Amino acid sequence: MSTRLQSVRGFNDVLPPDTAIWQHVQNVAQRTFAAYGYGEVRLPLLEHTALFARSIGEVTDIVEKEMFSFQDREGDSLSLRPEGTAGCVRAGLEHGLLHNQQQRFWYSGPMFRHERPQAGRYRQFHQLGAEAYGMAGPDIDLEVIALSARLIRALGIEDVRLELNSLGTPEVRQQYRAKLIAFLQQHEAHLDEESKQRMHKNPLRVLDSKVAQTQAIVKDAPTMLDMLDLDSRAHFDGLCQGLSDLGIGYTLNPRLVRGLDYYSRTVFEWITDALGAQGTICAGGRYDGLVAQLGGSATPAVGWASGIERLILLMKAQGVTLPDAAPHAYLCALGEPSARALARLAEQWRDALPDLRLMSNAGGGKLAAQLKRADRSGAQLALILGEAELAEQRIQVKSLRSSDSPLQQQTLAWTELPALLAGLLHA
Ligand code: ATP
Ligand code: MG
Repeated sequence: MSTRLQSVRGFNDVLPPDTAIWQHVQNVAQRTFAAYGYGEVRLPLLEHTALFARSIGEVTDIVEKEMFSFQDREGDSLSLRPEGTAGCVRAGLEHGLLHNQQQRFWYSGPMFRHERPQAGRYRQFHQLGAEAYGMAGPDIDLEVIALSARLIRALGIEDVRLELNSLGTPEVRQQYRAKLIAFLQQHEAHLDEESKQRMHKNPLRVLDSKVAQTQAIVKDAPTMLDMLDLDSRAHFDGLCQGLSDLGIGYTLNPRLVRGLDYYSRTVFEWITDALGAQGTICAGGRYDGLVAQLGGSATPAVGWASGIERLILLMKAQGVTLPDAAPHAYLCALGEPSARALARLAEQWRDALPDLRLMSNAGGGKLAAQLKRADRSGAQLALILGEAELAEQRIQVKSLRSSDSPLQQQTLAWTELPALLAGLLHA
């Protein structure tokens, strides 16, 4: 029996013409990060499992049940990276980039989590992320949030809201934790099973439960915002003031806790109602303790990560118009001498106009067959070189899109083509 091999569940191919959207997102992101002076880091997909256990936290969904971990041939436990921050800190420490310095980094690339695949949730997915190190004040929290807001705007995405919370300092969180456990114990009988188990190990995660009954209970739970220490309060107020100054709207969500253990003070998410349970398109916060936790000197840090698949789903749902990736023109040649001449001309035109997209017919065929391929390519024009045109150094120009175009069909001299093609670039 032979079975056809298929991709691994939750691991997707990205193919043309969809790839054009991915390139567009990547280009917009690259420009946006550059606009704030962030430098790109490119990090390995594979790290020692211990890195994630020590940073993300043992009692988190990611480390408990979502990692792709395996032993390599030397018996070391390795994991495909489930997120980018841990690797970024590891690399920063390894190359001495974090001690007593300010750094602004960004990254993009695949992440891996063993979750149940569904729309907006995959086992290989892609993130864009920003991380800033060595800056403790709310000004940098504001910068990374403004950067994310600009990115979302530049992608043409609308109707997303920014939710904001503060988790305070680890010390105050410890007190809050005790208070929260006491509250949850009063309602234990009505909590879902998972929350009952989490209640003692990681009670903050109960606030984040997706179970309606549990949500109804935690609605009345004590909040961290009410307990903030003075410094965390001032930090939070500074950020809120800055957001108002920049006209970035936000809502306070005292139940926003994030699934990773390393956060302190600011946490935030950009959320849409258009993608169901996969509504968070960007999430982040401050993680002042992580660098020291991984063996460096105490270094304040703040960052976020955004899921590219969710950004693209949302852009499509909102009908964002995307840049056209189809060829500007499709080149048809009739007969061997014309094909050779047209290949030479096409190279000259590509030399002259680097942004021009020309697709050349290959494999011969009658004119009708070539025009069919031209049409399927999505090109605006077909350029047709037959024997008669070759002899006169002319070429037929046929419009493939709008029937009322003045270009519908005409014959031009080869020398006129660069100007015509340049016009297509700016159409
Ligand atoms: P969720 O609550 O949706 O599981 P998360 O809190 O686990 O998200 P983060 O670890 O904060 O997610 O990752 C940042 C962003 O990466 C998310 O907001 C989302 O846009 C994206 N993301 C996370 N997991 C996935 C996944 N399995 N598939 C696609 N995108 C994802
Ligand atoms: Mg998750």
